[in-house]
Amino acid sequence: MSTMKPLIPLDDARQALFDQLSVIADIETVALNNAAGRILAAPVVASINVPPKANSAMDGYALAAADAVAGTELTISQRIPAGAVTTPLVSGTAARIFTGAELPEGADCVVMQENTEPCDSGVRILQTAKANENVRAAGLDITAGEVIVKAGARLTAPALGICASTGVTDVKVFKPLTVALLSTGDELVEPGAALQAGQIYNSNRPMLVELLSQAGFKVFDIGQVADNHTATREALVNASEQADAILTMGGVSVGEEDHVKNAIDELGSLNLWRIRIRPGKPFAAGRVGQTPIFGLPGNPMSALVTFSLLARPCLMHLQGAAYKQALRIPVETTIERAAQARDEFMRVELHGGVAHRVANQSSGVLSSALNADGLLHLPADVEIKAGERYDFIPFCSLLTS
Ligand code: AMP
Ligand code: MG
Repeated sequence: MSTMKPLIPLDDARQALFDQLSVIADIETVALNNAAGRILAAPVVASINVPPKANSAMDGYALAAADAVAGTELTISQRIPAGAVTTPLVSGTAARIFTGAELPEGADCVVMQENTEPCDSGVRILQTAKANENVRAAGLDITAGEVIVKAGARLTAPALGICASTGVTDVKVFKPLTVALLSTGDELVEPGAALQAGQIYNSNRPMLVELLSQAGFKVFDIGQVADNHTATREALVNASEQADAILTMGGVSVGEEDHVKNAIDELGSLNLWRIRIRPGKPFAAGRVGQTPIFGLPGNPMSALVTFSLLARPCLMHLQGAAYKQALRIPVETTIERAAQARDEFMRVELHGGVAHRVANQSSGVLSSALNADGLLHLPADVEIKAGERYDFIPFCSLLTS
């Protein structure tokens, strides 16, 4: 009788893992200027309207809309550069105004400079304007009291700008988690060493250090662990003491050289998952003591895909980030193939909006990821037909949300 576990759809696996994990990051207050890329621990609420007062969207003349009629000639009663204090507009006159300057009381539209010409008395209106034309109303961007950035959101460049626009000086954010990173496999050596028979260079290590760093984690890089029980156990205990979460690479398949899973079993709890995806079916998740651990398969492309689609969202969840699905863009493809039992995340290049398979989709091959723009999600159990649309997930979105 087969003891094989069923294949779990990716979304179900992620949701099941989320249900078992809660936020473990501490909260701190930091200056907005030092908060780029951090995850907000409390919503930012606007204390003011943005803009605070109605201002001009153009260089031109501010006046009452009733006077903004083609052919009208007006005297110029004041000059208002951006940042200047205004006085109420003298009725029946125009104010020279510049982009970003507050409208004077009594003016409710701006005639842009290009629609005027100088005349003896001041300015002649060449084109009739309506009320509110070229005026940015108070609160056009943000209303006081509004949540401008939600808890769990990353402080991206626009988020920083929006916070600053309401006068925010500091924000409550989650402290970055430290993630311990372990490579396993006696075949692995570091670049710099000469390759002996049977050896390969450790390619996952710098890739995962960078993927973790990009996501905002501190990396505790334990390096490589020998393929034996004692070394694996010791490394895992060390990792659980030094870090908030652990990420391992390799050693989670079914072979007897896969020591990670046995060591985790002894030190805590382990779930070996068979995710219904290709590449990257094997995935381990559990705890060493209380420390969450995620085990990626060793094949470089499997490691990249399972990290991006599963380990990264779980780590971000522990970090306090709200889950944000990577961008999915339906695109046509040239690919034809029979139905398969697993969802395939195929490395593709886009040409003219059409997805083309890049050569060599082996899970051990990383060079094709470099040439690809992202992954094309070909769902399980359906025949794939050229000309149909499937979801394209750009790498730039998959690795930044
Ligand atoms: P494993 O998951 O340990 O069974 O490894 C699967 C395949 O991935 C084997 O061919 C390993 O040599 C390879 N592999 C494991 N870890 C790494 C790594 N850090 N860098 C490059 N290849 C690796
Ligand atoms: Mg191995």
